[in-house]
Amino acid sequence: MTTAGTNTHGVEVDGPLLPGYGQTSLADLSDSVLASLGVPGARNPLGLASVPRVCLLVVDGLGWDLLRGHPSAAPFLWGLTETGCWLTAGFPATTVTSLGSLGTARPPGQHGLLGYQVRVPDTGRLLNALRWDNAVDPVGWQPVATIFERAAAAGVTAIRVAAGAFRQSGLSIAAMRGADYHAADTPGALVASAGAALGAERRALVMVYAGDLDATGHARGCSSPAWRFQLGHVDRLAEQLAGALPAGTILYVTADHGMVDVPAELRADADAVPELRQGVALLGGEGRARHVYALPGATDDVLAAWRSVLGDRAWIASRAEAIEAGWFGLVDDRCAARIGDVIVAARGRSAVVATIAEPRESALVGMHGSLTPAEQRVPLLSYVA
Ligand SMILES: [Zn+2]
Repeated sequence: MTTAGTNTHGVEVDGPLLPGYGQTSLADLSDSVLASLGVPGARNPLGLASVPRVCLLVVDGLGWDLLRGHPSAAPFLWGLTETGCWLTAGFPATTVTSLGSLGTARPPGQHGLLGYQVRVPDTGRLLNALRWDNAVDPVGWQPVATIFERAAAAGVTAIRVAAGAFRQSGLSIAAMRGADYHAADTPGALVASAGAALGAERRALVMVYAGDLDATGHARGCSSPAWRFQLGHVDRLAEQLAGALPAGTILYVTADHGMVDVPAELRADADAVPELRQGVALLGGEGRARHVYALPGATDDVLAAWRSVLGDRAWIASRAEAIEAGWFGLVDDRCAARIGDVIVAARGRSAVVATIAEPRESALVGMHGSLTPAEQRVPLLSYVA
């Protein structure tokens, strides 16, 4: 059945929601936070108030649309949405890229953390940026100074509070080096560590990361009871954190991306449809945001084949078209070769899985990465202690 605003695949007729780079993206939040702390060279596009201490809580997978849809499950955070607003995550709407944007205050095209899996031009292999690869130097891969390095240079104490497992990850070094790392593996430990860190400093930037909501959404779906219950835990975490901050501290709550649940009938399988592998050297990205790397000379054929197979289930662009359309922000020459020859951004609730190459990822219920509002819009909430 076709309803207003949708077609027969259940996808919205509207175009992609392009990230508001330079104004209202996650990179602009970090830029504004630095400016609010008096760090030289930072712009303040969001007009954040000048403060001595900022606590930035990043809730993985907490999309604005999801939060607004759950007033009773998250009364504290939902209340803050009344005075809050949404920002755009950036493309792809995925943790690797968004932590890069938050960590550097630059758009993806500048920091070069361009997705979950991207091709390393020197090796021709895919880099899974969550697992990383010892052959890739994280600082060489992402040389832009981080917000923590810039804060520390300006006399602002820079601290990250997150699970101990992420302390030495390649992504941590690439996107977030320069902070003192306070390992905290439970919600209670996150609150206590952040509160203690801020209480001990006159000027400080503390970033707290909570990852369980995203994990729950991937495994069970963001429309599941499990996700809703987990949101309740996130709400309690945020409320406790607000209560643990010393006076004169501002708490910002944001997220790296939202999420959509992908039904079986809207999953195209690149490992079962030969046309999606024809002329393809490497398939990168993830289900809802693909970097397709073509064999030499095959880009036009790959572009045509993917458009033919997927039709209106995805926005499909060549590298040049995606760059021109501003999907990645201004793209540094250093980073351009990491982008797929063909970029595929899923529409509606569809995805391109790869059941043989990516059995674990292909089994996920909730996914993210694309340019739909459900994925792009993330909250910016504030609470003054
Ligand atoms: Zn995720």
